[in-house]
Parts: sequence; C-alpha cells; structure tokens
Amino acid sequence: MHLLSRITLASICLLSAGQIASAAGNADTIFYGGDIVTMNKAQPTAEAVAIQGGKITKVGSLSQVKSLQGKDTKLINLNGQTLMPGFVEPHVHIFGTAFSEELWQNMSNFEMPHDTLDSLVAKLTTYSKNVKDGEWITAFGVDPSRTDPFMAELTADILDKVSTTKPIFVMNQSMHIAYVNHKAMEMAGITDSTPDPKGGKLLKDSKGRLTGVVYEVPAFYLFLSKMPVPNQDLIEQALAKVGQKMVRKGVTTSAEISLGGYLGVDKENALLNDMTHSGKLPVRVRGYMYSNAYPLTNNSYKPGQGDDVYKLIGVKIVSDGSDQGLTGAMIQPYAYPAGTTNTGSLNFTEQELYDLAKPRFDQGWQISVHSNGDRAIEQTLNVFQKLVTKPSDAKTRLRIEHFTVPTEAQITKAAKLGVVPGFTIGHTDYWGEAFHDHLLGPERANRIDASASLIKNGMHFAYHSDSPVSPIHPLKYASEGASRLWQVAPQKVLNANEKVSINDALKAVTIDAAYQLKMDDKVGSVQAGKYADFAIVNQNPMKTDAYKIRDIEVNETWVNGQQVFKKQ
Ligand SMILES: [Zn+2]
Repeated sequence: MHLLSRITLASICLLSAGQIASAAGNADTIFYGGDIVTMNKAQPTAEAVAIQGGKITKVGSLSQVKSLQGKDTKLINLNGQTLMPGFVEPHVHIFGTAFSEELWQNMSNFEMPHDTLDSLVAKLTTYSKNVKDGEWITAFGVDPSRTDPFMAELTADILDKVSTTKPIFVMNQSMHIAYVNHKAMEMAGITDSTPDPKGGKLLKDSKGRLTGVVYEVPAFYLFLSKMPVPNQDLIEQALAKVGQKMVRKGVTTSAEISLGGYLGVDKENALLNDMTHSGKLPVRVRGYMYSNAYPLTNNSYKPGQGDDVYKLIGVKIVSDGSDQGLTGAMIQPYAYPAGTTNTGSLNFTEQELYDLAKPRFDQGWQISVHSNGDRAIEQTLNVFQKLVTKPSDAKTRLRIEHFTVPTEAQITKAAKLGVVPGFTIGHTDYWGEAFHDHLLGPERANRIDASASLIKNGMHFAYHSDSPVSPIHPLKYASEGASRLWQVAPQKVLNANEKVSINDALKAVTIDAAYQLKMDDKVGSVQAGKYADFAIVNQNPMKTDAYKIRDIEVNETWVNGQQVFKKQ
C-alpha cells in the first residue's frame, strides 16, 4: 500500500475553467482497457477516461478520449479491471472509529459464531494485563443482539471479574450503550443516588442499585471526562489508520458525522483540516457539528467554511437510541422480551428538538437528525415540517440518519420535505435475523431500510456504515441493499419487496451519497468536470450476483487524480 502523495487541491482550485480547457490535448492520464461504470445516467458506460489537474476532462470512446493525448500523457491500461467513481461514505464517526478500533481494545465481531459473556470476559482479562492499576480499561464493540445466548449483557458485577482495581468502560457496538465496573463508577463519583444526566440514563435494578449499564452520550461523558486524553501523535496515527481503512475499500469522500464528540469541536476540526490537506487522511471530508459538543451558545464556525478537501456543512442531533439495543423510540413496544411495554426512549421533546434545530437551520447548516425508531422518525418529521416553510427550504437536503423502520405515511411525508435518508444497511445483514425473529417482529423488521419504497417516492438515499457501528465497506452495503439476505443461518431475505437493483444500490454509495453531502456536482460519478476520484475494482459489480458484490476487491483508489492506494 502506498502512503499517498499529497493532495495538492489548493493549487488545483486556482486553475480556472478556462485554463483547464486551454490545456486540453494534454491529459495527465488516460484510463482505458476495462469496463467503466460511470454512475452518470446520461452516459452509464464508457471506453476511456481522461484526467488533468485532478479533474476528469473527458469520458467516452477510446478514440474521443485519445484526442486529449499529449506527449506527456500517461496511458493506464486497466487490463480488464473496472473503473468506478470513488465511493462516498456519508456517515462515519471518524474520531469514534479511531478511538473504538485503534486507541481502545476493539472487540467487534462481525463474523460467526457470536461471542459469549465468558469469551468477552476472557478477551477483556487478556487486554487488562497490559493496563496498570488505576488506569482505564477501555474497549468497544460488544453487542448483546449478536451474543450467545441472545441479549446476554455485561454488567458491573460481570466486569468486576475482569478487575476491581482498574476502571472499565466498554462501549456497545451501537455507540448508544456502555458497560462499566464498580471501580469506574467510584472514579466517576457516581452512586445509587446520582441523578441521570439530561439525555442520558444510569440503569438501576429493581432495588434501585446501579447495574453498570449506561445509555447515551451525556451518561458516557461522566466516565470519558475522567480518562486521560491520548497524546496527539497517537490520535493522528489512529486517524491515519481510519483513512487507510477507507481507501482500501475505495472510499474517496467521507463525513465526520459527529464532530467534537471526543476531543471537542476546535481540536477535532483542526486535526481533520490539517490531516486531509496534508494527505495523511487521504479522502475528502465533510464535517457535521455534533450538537452536544457545539451548543447553541457557540457560533465560532460558519456553514460552508472550508474547501473541496475539507468543509463544515452540517449539524447533527441524536433523537433516539439503537433498535438492536432496544433504545430506539418505537410507536409499539419491542417484541423482546415477550410482553414488554418498552418502547425505547426519545432524547428530547418535540419542542426541544425544534429549538435545537431551528437556529442552526436558519444559519444555513444542513440539519441531520439520528432517528432509528418510528416514534423518533415521526417526531423528527414533525420538526422538519416546521422548518420547511418555503419551497427552497425543502432543497436543503434535510437528513435523517438510519431512518430504520419508517411507516409508509412517514416515507411519503419525508419525500414531500425533500428529506435525504441514510440507511445503516448492515441492519438487514448482521442484525436482520435478530430484528425479524426477536426484537421487532416480522411486520416492523420488513420495513427496515425500505429502499424500494423510497425509490417509488422519488427519493434520494444513501447507504453508510455508521463506522464503527459496522465496518467501512461500500461495496458490501450495495450488496446488502440489492440482496437483503441476513447473515445468521439459515439465511433469509428480509422482505424481498424492498430489494433494489444493483444500479440503485450502487447509486446509494456513489452519486446519491454525494447528493446527501451536497457534492453531487463535484464527485459521485465519472463525468467531465468532476474530480478524478476513482475506485478501480477487480470485477464489474453490474455483472456480478448481488450477494457476491461484497467479494469484489478494490485494487486501486485515486483521489484528485492521485493514486492513494494500491493493493499489494
Ligand atoms: Zn452514527
């Protein structure tokens, strides 16, 4: 793998359109000799592509494109590989992934068989041997909905088996739940009489004693604020590794969907700005301020500040929890355990959510609200309806993250408001069986990531990983959207009516994901005038069985006309 060359976008930006045109006949590079999947509806395939100064200058037949060949033009024969637009991953927790997968112990298990509580304790015990007394044991990625037995959960008593002298903080795979031992509660100064922080919850048993299970970020902060911040070098190395995970999967544009969540907005903004421009983080990034870290009293940033490499554009608000964690806000009770009255929980009243969103909307920020359950989606749509008072408001591309189990009426309403949902499409795969057979029941589970219904309503939508919630791998999301097969044996299709064509599934990781990030005029398709951001893959996904698209390998990734990854 190459550590990339610098993205010298600043210099490219200085070239005017006229200069680029006058340089025609001097293409830097021409790609030919393989399938070219453009994701441009007007010209879906081509024989060759020319690029110059980081941009695409011509897409067409080999003879047309060769008209731009000059004496210094490099010809790249794809040798039967397929060239596609670089993938757009519009919902990543870049810092969350750096912390969870690189700085903390990563316990995520997306393979079969599932972990057990014993195997989790054993893994944590091994890890704890490298941690000194009094220092934090921090880990990520346990998931009761993917644990054997189903929904077996860590508690303070269980974590005390790992250590009673070292504080332990383990984040659930969903990032909405965490587990702590008694030492951690002691260090955070939390007792049975400590009140819940606003928007968070410290779970207690029937006798009013803390269980060690805590919900949502305001509760996590009680512990995170007691941990030492890793030094700058370690953070930068971890971020660079996240960048490598992206380019290895062909991602060329991404978003930090909750800027400020770990180190505050100032530090995280400065790090992303520096690392994207230096090429240490070799993808374009769009930043969404996390409302918990960017309160309404702070107005130090402007929407749109930045450039095509790194730009701040939105504000992200989290309105409910996780459906597989039984905390997403549902209209009807969960189906698990049988007879439960639990309908999950909303983090705000409708008025509170409106009061958070309205000032940011008026300032010109793109509003992004995390809503998993149908009760949360309803609340968010009600708030969006109040924000959209004139036709231009519906063009601001209001985002709903996850939009996991919308009703038909909610989809119609979202379409009218111009909402651009983003599906964590791994819900159909890793969690499909758990939702269908246990947590939600068939009717609601069949509504998960209702991609075909959205297309019928003329909507744009994106697929994303929500990394670290699921692994960064756009071709896998496309495969999941087009197949909807769940992972646990016996594999079944989670509502065949919501499967989409391979073309539509690929749109959700290219041009429509770019649309969600308001970058569809710059990236997301192979089209003259757009940036030369490509994924070169070993097989044409349009000619592959939907389920097997996930096995396609990315051989090279190009950003701004520069190769930033080559498979060794
Ligand atoms: Zn997320």
